[in-house]
Amino acid sequence: MVQAEYKEYCATVGHDPLHIQGAGGNASWKEGDTLWVKASGKWLADATKEEIFLPIDLAELTSHIETGNFEIKPVILKKTELRPSIETILHAVMPQKYVLHTHPVQALAYLVTKEGKADIATRLGDKVAWTYVPYRKPGPDLGKAIYKAIHQQPQKNITVVFLENHGVVISANKLDKLIALNEFLTKELSRDISADLLNARSIQENKHNFSGYHLLDNPIAMAFVHDEKRIEIAKKYWALYPDHVVFLGEKARLFLNQDDCKKAFEHEGNLGDYAIVENYGLLIKDKLPQNKIDMLICYISVCVRLDLSKHISPLSIENIGELLNWDAEKYRSSISK
Ligand SMILES: [Zn+2]
Repeated sequence: MVQAEYKEYCATVGHDPLHIQGAGGNASWKEGDTLWVKASGKWLADATKEEIFLPIDLAELTSHIETGNFEIKPVILKKTELRPSIETILHAVMPQKYVLHTHPVQALAYLVTKEGKADIATRLGDKVAWTYVPYRKPGPDLGKAIYKAIHQQPQKNITVVFLENHGVVISANKLDKLIALNEFLTKELSRDISADLLNARSIQENKHNFSGYHLLDNPIAMAFVHDEKRIEIAKKYWALYPDHVVFLGEKARLFLNQDDCKKAFEHEGNLGDYAIVENYGLLIKDKLPQNKIDMLICYISVCVRLDLSKHISPLSIENIGELLNWDAEKYRSSISK
């Protein structure tokens, strides 16, 4: 059964931190008048272990969309406590059967820069039918922007939508096409992490004991904390895309060295969820939810792939405010694991 195969593929992508972090991203397929879409807060990685998809009345959604109304409360066709993904509208506006929305590290390294669209054009040209949508708050606003972008050029039959400061939507009527498209984009947009960056670290001795915290054992994290320029990015441009802000807040917890970090630890009694300590490492609170650890790793994975000759373009204060004061995101954050 194709749906079973799609769920398997969703689980595979969901387990790949270069594509999906925690409960982020979502997937759907259309079956007649029903849109099967991931439930909010559920993990794509669990697609084969539990029922993470909800049936939605697609005909009803489409009737609203066609009249220009995107502020829709989707009708769920079964009794459930779960809510459909915040990004359900995005799935409904794409005409293809299979739709996959991810937050891929490789693409994000372009999408958070001012030159992102032009650089993607250089890399992809016309090899796939793609379009680029400026940043919009996830939900109805983003759904509307995607709808407009693909309907402005119907003859192009868009199958890839790049979302500025956010991620990628890919779609196809056949599952093997969708998988091939995802692999193609990953390959075309891939940027290697420079060997200099990975080799530049000199491990500092552990001067202090931060009880209740441990160092993240990850070579990318070690490269990141030992690179002055990347640390500078975290200092200046922490809020690069929505999920990062929703789960890790609007400012980085950064320290210049272990001594400063220790002072804060003694003064406040803890370091919050994590602390980035320059030239030392990334301290993580013991038992920090996996969702947040995934978000941290995603951020540093994007940072180490950024072309530093480009201009980084973070979310604005207004963008951040509308994410942090949004009930739908508070719900998603509250049920995260
Ligand atoms: Zn998203």
